[in-house]
Amino acid sequence: MSLLLKDRVYTMQAPTAKRGIYPMHGYKLGLYRMPIKLEDPAEIKSILEGMKKTFVMDKYADRIYATYNWIEENIPDPDADGYEYVNLSVTVEIVTGEVIDAIYQIYPVEKFSAPQWVQNYRKKADHFAKMIIDTLLRNTILSDKMVEYLMKSENMSEAQALTKLEELTPLAQIVLDAKPIAKIEKPKPAVEGKKQVITRDGEEAVPGPIDIEFKDKMDISAPFKTKTGNEVKTWGRVGVDNKVMGVWGEFCAVDFDICIGDGACIDACPVAVYEFFDFPGNAGSTKKPLQINEPDCIFCLACEGVCPPQAIKIYPQ
Ligand code: SF4
Ligand code: SF4
Repeated sequence: MSLLLKDRVYTMQAPTAKRGIYPMHGYKLGLYRMPIKLEDPAEIKSILEGMKKTFVMDKYADRIYATYNWIEENIPDPDADGYEYVNLSVTVEIVTGEVIDAIYQIYPVEKFSAPQWVQNYRKKADHFAKMIIDTLLRNTILSDKMVEYLMKSENMSEAQALTKLEELTPLAQIVLDAKPIAKIEKPKPAVEGKKQVITRDGEEAVPGPIDIEFKDKMDISAPFKTKTGNEVKTWGRVGVDNKVMGVWGEFCAVDFDICIGDGACIDACPVAVYEFFDFPGNAGSTKKPLQINEPDCIFCLACEGVCPPQAIKIYPQ
């Protein structure tokens, strides 16, 4: 469930009403106000075009509409007696301007002429609407604006702001190229005067092997919290769209822009340090061996030896 829920307002507020939003007849109203500006036509177009790959998008006046459609079936077999299906949808209305309002209504299921066999309709509609909002915030131009806002308002570093944005938007779907300008910056050398030898343009996987001096050459970037509660350190990671992932792991370091995701390291590791995790959008591979149990490493070097592009470097302690 999206953590943005805590900011939800259930009743219409005066500033909202002034902007002409009149929700009616909905079972439930979700309203999120994002304290960021969206007025530039190029930015609005980029959201419309980019999110088209995942949702049905439309635009009217200062509003963008993102719709998610799904099908419910009463039994899995279309050839069986009594089989029925219904098309359902939920739409998020995004009101642009000095601030952004994202609004959705969950209508009674009868709106879709659906019989009462549909299970958990309201819960699913709520989930899908939050998925649209999380995707909008994480994977469009709005992610840069949110990071900037968090850095200013909460006095955070860029890495902390990126981590917070990831935590706020757990339902985000990856939509490639939903930003107007590819804001990919080359990782900067952390040490003045050192030559940055790793180039990552997000379009091609960087050929191996991993640069074993990456800790000196690349900036430390946002850490990643794993489901096991461990924190995986990262270097040279840019944004959260996975185009430039940099190197992950302090002792079991894997250059995720080189990794081709064949899983050889996962199979080789005797103590299950790695587990496949989806990172769509990376040119090298969309699955990466996330170091969920990095502190358990016994430094046997098995993973380093089997990695085809030599993306791994183990630093025995
Ligand atoms: S060095 Fe050995 S224990 Fe450590 S991650 Fe690689 S395979 Fe696993
Ligand atoms: S063995 Fe190397 S290329 Fe294969 S998944 Fe592991 S890190 Fe990636």
